[in-house]
Amino acid sequence: MRKPMIAGNWKMHLTRKEAGELASAIKKGLDPDLKHEVLLAPSFTNLETVKNIIFDSKILLSAQNMCWEEKGAFTGEVSPLQLKDIGCDYVIIGHSERRKIFGETDETLNKKIKSALKNNLKVIFCIGETLEERENNQTYRVLQTQIQNGLKEISKEDLSAIVIAYEPVWAIGTGKTATPDQAEDAHIFVRKEISRLYDTNTSENIRILYGGSVKAENIDELMAKPNIDGALVGGESLKADKFLRVIHYQKVLSK
Ligand code: PEP
Repeated sequence: MRKPMIAGNWKMHLTRKEAGELASAIKKGLDPDLKHEVLLAPSFTNLETVKNIIFDSKILLSAQNMCWEEKGAFTGEVSPLQLKDIGCDYVIIGHSERRKIFGETDETLNKKIKSALKNNLKVIFCIGETLEERENNQTYRVLQTQIQNGLKEISKEDLSAIVIAYEPVWAIGTGKTATPDQAEDAHIFVRKEISRLYDTNTSENIRILYGGSVKAENIDELMAKPNIDGALVGGESLKADKFLRVIHYQKVLSK
């Protein structure tokens, strides 16, 4: 049984005060009997503030990026040791904004994943195709390359500390969500690829989140799909009431 996860990526938003208020409101609104995981990923500067609020709750803390080195002359970078020290459980690696705007490659992402795992940080590893790639029928090829290169030399055992987030680039921050069927198809492909690279058991156990304009209005139909194990949520996670509705999605039909 894969435990669902709803993760909020706050990107480069919020002051410490705002982040604290939002984290408090989310914590307050959580169903105490919630069985799945909830995770918040604030900016580096807000990690400690949020940690101080959620430490006695079930909410997990994630950074949005990290350096692959543990320490040294890497001006402007933040290391896995520092993230662990501040109380992070997870780190997001390979968000499409990191790939596109900051030029991160599959190779550097693979180094980051290995370093995070070595330092006992779990990983949300993002993959996804651009609109052009989708229109040129390259979606599966792109996903396959990102998975193969990103997870290179990562053992089956280590994979249990990785959550994959399928985030079609054309759906991030655009208001265009993949249809539940489009997302489910991609998730099935990712699971098959994990099965090919590892084994069926590993592919059955790995969690695959969907990300891309997830909203209070569309979460239920996405979560109804058997291979969608949760969501990575950007914009909608910045509004407590909306994000709480996403967190408390309704199980419908097949799920
Ligand atoms: C994201 O930041 O990973 C994301 C999916 O953003 P949004 O929900 O705003 O599309």
